Amino acid sequence: MSLHTLTLAELAAGLDRRDYSSVELTRHFLDRISRFDAAATGGLNSYITVTPERALAQAAAADAARAAARSGTGSAGQLTGIPLAQKDIFCTEGVKTTCGSKMLDSFISPYNAEVVTRCDAAGLVMLGKTNMDEFAMGSSNETSFYGAVKNPWDVTRVPGGSSGGSAAAVAARLAPAATGTDTGGSIRQPASLCNLTGLKPSYGRISRWGMIAFASSLDQAGPMTQTAEDAALLLQVMAGHDAKDSTSIDHPVPDYRATLNDSLQGLRIGLPRQFFGEGLNASTAALIQAAIRELEKLGATCVEVDLPNSGLSVPAYYVIAPAECSSNLSRFDGVRFGHRCDNPKDLEDLYKRSRAEGFGEEVRRRIMIGTYALSAGYYDAYYLQAQRVRRLIKQDFDAAFAHCDVILGPTAPDTAFALGAKQEDPIAMYLQDIYTIATNLAGLPGMSIPAGFSAGLPVGLQLIGPYWSEARLLNVAHRYQQVTDWHRQLPAAFA
Ligand code: GLN
Repeated sequence: MSLHTLTLAELAAGLDRRDYSSVELTRHFLDRISRFDAAATGGLNSYITVTPERALAQAAAADAARAAARSGTGSAGQLTGIPLAQKDIFCTEGVKTTCGSKMLDSFISPYNAEVVTRCDAAGLVMLGKTNMDEFAMGSSNETSFYGAVKNPWDVTRVPGGSSGGSAAAVAARLAPAATGTDTGGSIRQPASLCNLTGLKPSYGRISRWGMIAFASSLDQAGPMTQTAEDAALLLQVMAGHDAKDSTSIDHPVPDYRATLNDSLQGLRIGLPRQFFGEGLNASTAALIQAAIRELEKLGATCVEVDLPNSGLSVPAYYVIAPAECSSNLSRFDGVRFGHRCDNPKDLEDLYKRSRAEGFGEEVRRRIMIGTYALSAGYYDAYYLQAQRVRRLIKQDFDAAFAHCDVILGPTAPDTAFALGAKQEDPIAMYLQDIYTIATNLAGLPGMSIPAGFSAGLPVGLQLIGPYWSEARLLNVAHRYQQVTDWHRQLPAAFA
């Protein structure tokens, strides 16, 4: 078996047995990146920056830490020495951090995001920074200043977005796992389109410090992995209170692996009628039904639930997220960070041209919508109204969870679409997140796991739980993955 087909748990066991060193493992993935990723030679384009020197230094340190642990003179964690890719939204000290934007093309971060600090402390080896939609705005990775990413399952199709680089890198095993962020679906939808396990935790579970802000009340980081067990391992590293982020919540972090094998006997699965109606691709629906039958065999029962306001989630999101982004992105003014235009006439010209040149079309569209929605005279009609809808959506979930433990449905309405197919139609693109956005508006944890293939393309199944139910979601996903092998399928060209 080749090293790149192994999960984090398997790689950890191999490092323990000394089957290979971290340096060997890291070289193996760096070699795969050079072989499969370069855009210039028709590769996937899943990395914006590859950091081989940093990676090999971390790997050598990991090998030394493991040796010291064996001789009783030091300590090493379970994941010490395992490679990982970081989405390029996380600040990395001394390394270019672009957020997929020309605006930050020359930005070398002076500090690490808390997520990066925690991954480094766990001994994980950063291979590089993955491609993404510009400032995480998109569902196809096509808004990136660094070009589109190809889906390893069919290189004429999108990998999903905004964490499309992370998804493609893990799907093609150019990294055994990656980090992502999810504001409206950006972990779950690409996980679905690339046959991965992706988890967006409860809002406040993982520190946002050093994670470049898109819509602060919605943004949440999470793991993108091959299996639920790996998601548990990586979440364990990423989760926990951080005093530097005022929205990080001081709530105990359970041992996510301890409950993975719990029985599903008596689990009540809620099926929202709004998730199975019009707009859902028929073969996706059939695969979701087949997955439900597997879970029933494991002891779960199903009940229909109602999320009456879920149809309003996309419109509410596209007021709230742009409003927050217009405020967050005002810091990119040509003075303090990133791109600055040449020869400005005066201060106003400096602001205008730096921003017009530095931001791409989708980002400019969102800033304009958000600025409009927040302006005097429109604030009540749009922003306040959207916040009221947001509250109703949260109440719908509270009511549904009175009847069920987890909610199950599709992650995305369809499988991966062709590159370019939706680029001219923002509304069609926005509807990619019709099943994922409500979760962010309510702050709840959501997960996508592989549930089969339709015409050779992966289909994801979504699980949503109440606040802090990450362990339960991982448990359901893990039990499902023990009786199915969709998640172990690899695209043939990258096997
Ligand atoms: N596709 C959604 C958007 O474009 C969600 C993106 C995300 O979750 N970062 O805003």
